[in-house]
Amino acid sequence: MSEVETTRVLYVVGSARSGSTILDTLLGSPSGVASVGELTNLVQFGWMNRELCACGEAGDKCAFWVGVREAWHARVPGLNEAEYVKRARSWERILGWLTRVNSLRPGLARYQRETAALYQSIAELAQVEMVVDSSKIPGRALALAGAPDLDMRYLHLVRDGRGVAWSLRKAFEKNLEAGVQHDIKPLPLASIARRWALVNSLAERVVRQANSQHAVRARYEDLMQDPLTFFAAVSAMSEFDYSNVAQQVVDGAAFAADHAIAGNRVRMAGPVRLKHDRAWESGFSAEELQTFESRARRWLRRYGYLN
Ligand SMILES: [Zn+2]
Repeated sequence: MSEVETTRVLYVVGSARSGSTILDTLLGSPSGVASVGELTNLVQFGWMNRELCACGEAGDKCAFWVGVREAWHARVPGLNEAEYVKRARSWERILGWLTRVNSLRPGLARYQRETAALYQSIAELAQVEMVVDSSKIPGRALALAGAPDLDMRYLHLVRDGRGVAWSLRKAFEKNLEAGVQHDIKPLPLASIARRWALVNSLAERVVRQANSQHAVRARYEDLMQDPLTFFAAVSAMSEFDYSNVAQQVVDGAAFAADHAIAGNRVRMAGPVRLKHDRAWESGFSAEELQTFESRARRWLRRYGYLN
C-alpha cells in the first residue's frame, strides 16, 4: 500500500425521500464499490446505539462494521467516538456554511482527517476502489470539500417535491400507526415545499463548488424511466463503469443491500426492484397541490416538473 492513500467517495446529496435508499443499493452492487447508507449516522446510531445493519446484525456485532471500527481507531489514535459525533454534527450543520462562521472557526482539518480515515477504513475492509455515502445532507458535502486524501464525487439527486411531500406524509401516518412520535405534528405542506426548495438550492451550491467533471445532477424520475441515460451520467462523473447495473435495472433484476446501515428501513426489506412511486399524482387534492406549487414553483420549473 502506498503512503499517500486517496479514497474516492460518491456522495449523494439532496432531499430526504428522493429514492436515495434504493439508489444506494444499486450504486453499491458492483464489486469494486461499497455503499453503506447514510454514513453520517454510522457512529452514533450504528455503533453507539447498536442499530441494525442491512445484513441483520447489530452495528456493533456485524463482522464488517466491527472490522471497520477497529481499522478506524487504528488510523486515528486516541479517537473518542462521542466527541467525534459532536464535531461532525457541528461541521455538518448547514448554518455555519450559510454564514461566515465556519471560515472563522478552527478544527475543520481535524474533522476532515478523522472522516477521511473512516472512508479509508471502509474501502480497506470492503476491498473497493469507491465508497458510496448517501448521507444526503449538504452541510456534510460542504465540510468534506477539499479534504486531503479524499476524491469527492457529488450526485445531486432530485425528485419532484410533490412526490417527496407525499412520501413524508405517508411515513408520518405509518409512524402514527406504530404508536410512535405521537407528540409530533406532520409538517404543513408549505413548510415541506420551502424545505425541499432550500435543500436543493444548497445541493446546487455543492455541485457548483465541485470540479464540474466530478459532480452531476440527476432526477429520480429519469432513474425510473431511462436508467441507461441516468447511469451513463453517473459513470462519467464517478469514473466507475455502471453500464452493467443500468442493464440489470432495465432487465428488472432485484438488488440487495449488504452492509448498509443507519437510514431508511427499506434497506432491511431484502432484495428490491426499482418501482416508480407515483402515488402522489392521484393522492393530493388540487388545493394541496396548489399549496405546494405556490411555494416551490421556481424550483419545480427549474427541474422540469412544471411548465
Ligand atoms: Zn452488516
